[in-house]
Order: sequence, then C-alpha cells, then structure tokens
Amino acid sequence: MDKKTVLVIGAHPDDCEIQTGGFALKCVQMGYRVIFMSATNGETGHHELSREDTARIRKGEFEKSCSIGGIECFVTDIPSNKISPDVITREMFVSVIRGYKPDIIVTHRLNDYHPDHRTTAQLVQDSSYAVKVPKVCPDVEPLRYTPVILYMSDQFKRPYEFSPHIALDIDQVADKKMEMLACHESQVYEWLPWVDGVIDQVPEENDQRFQWMKKSRSERDKKNADRFRNLLCKRYGEEKGQEIVYAEAFEICEYGRQISVEELEQIFPK
Ligand SMILES: [Zn+2]
Repeated sequence: MDKKTVLVIGAHPDDCEIQTGGFALKCVQMGYRVIFMSATNGETGHHELSREDTARIRKGEFEKSCSIGGIECFVTDIPSNKISPDVITREMFVSVIRGYKPDIIVTHRLNDYHPDHRTTAQLVQDSSYAVKVPKVCPDVEPLRYTPVILYMSDQFKRPYEFSPHIALDIDQVADKKMEMLACHESQVYEWLPWVDGVIDQVPEENDQRFQWMKKSRSERDKKNADRFRNLLCKRYGEEKGQEIVYAEAFEICEYGRQISVEELEQIFPK
C-alpha cells in the first residue's frame, strides 16, 4: 500500500498528542509520514512563567515528544489566545498544507470550548478548497487533490455531537502515548494541575508523578473506548472489540475529500 502523509493540526503544543497520539504512533509503525503542527506557540499556558519562557519551553517539550514518536513537528509563532481566522493566517495554513502534501489532515471540530481550537478548525476548513486554487498563494505550488480531513473527538453536544466514522484500538501504544505526553512537563505537571486546582496532588518523585499523570490523562481514551464500543466491535469483531481498553475516534469532515468508510478502513492503521 502507498505510504501516506498525515498532518495533525492542533491549536496548542499538546493537543495533537492528547487527541491523536495513538493514531499517530500506529501510522508511524505503518511507515506513514506524520507531522504534528501546533497552530499557536502556547505562550499563555502557564501561571508563573513569562510568555516568552513558556513559548520557548513548550516548543522544546513538543519537539521532545515528537522525537520519541518518530513524528515531525512544526510550531507557528502565533501567540495562543490571539489566533484569528483572517486572510493572512489562512494563507499561511494554505502554504503549510501545500508544503506537506498530506493525504489526511486531522484537526479540532468547530464546537469547542477553546477559541484557539475553534479558530484552528475554521482555518483548516477555510483552507480545504483554497489549497487547490493556483491564484491563492501563487508562490506555492497548489495541490491537485483535496486531502481527507478528519475531526478529533470531543465531548461537546451543541449544536451537534461528535459522530465518529472510525474508532482505533490504541492499547498497544497507550504507554508510549503517555510517555509523549509526559514530555510536556510544563503542562501535565504544572499548568493543567494548577488550572484544575490539583497542583498540590502532583507527586514529586518522577515515576510516581508519571503514574499520577497517566491515571488522569488516559481517562479520556478509556471513556472513548466505552463511548464508541459499537464502532470498535464492528471493526475488530465482538470479542476483541469488548476487550479494548483505550481508543481514539475520528469523524470525516464534509469539507475534505469525501472518502468512504470502507476506504478509510483500508488506509487506517488497525
Ligand atoms: Zn488546546
């Protein structure tokens, strides 16, 4: 089978890992090229560090995480909480997408609590046609095809709920996904526990704090396995489907190439 190129575009330097880490690791195992892009520099994601220090540290953490996974990474200079779906930013997205020539793009949905997630989703959707238009960004060769666009999972219900077309068993790579997340030290051990009001619960010792983080951060993948159990059973058979502990799921976006679920099954890792 052709080796595919997968471009995951998250708003912040840990979104790609959290939502698609298992998928990305399995794509790498299949010999696919995987790129994680952070649409902002994440500079507002800390309660003590300066914005400059936060941006620098988060870039380093993101690079470390990606290198563990055999994934390429790219972080823009756009400050977090300041990204907008304007023409200049859209043209940057168009150029970046053309440069990587992805077969599959994965991003957030438009229904999301975080404006950066929504804006990133909007920019990907707004670029989906423009990537083929030669007169847009004329200096960068246009694509002659439309990439498949997939949404990452979320729990938001209005105006409509995330409705996946495919679910993926990530049990074999769940530990490695957590090792990647652990590279985001300023997030998983500092900012996120602080903002959640549990900073005093973070253990000091390295292995203990890793186990602590893993317990809470893998909860999402566990919930996804239960929530999309029917899709897992359909894909892996009833017996195996029931045993899967951790899963990720994806919905086909109607602005990307309209791939059938059968074809998606074929190019997707299993
Ligand atoms: Zn985020």
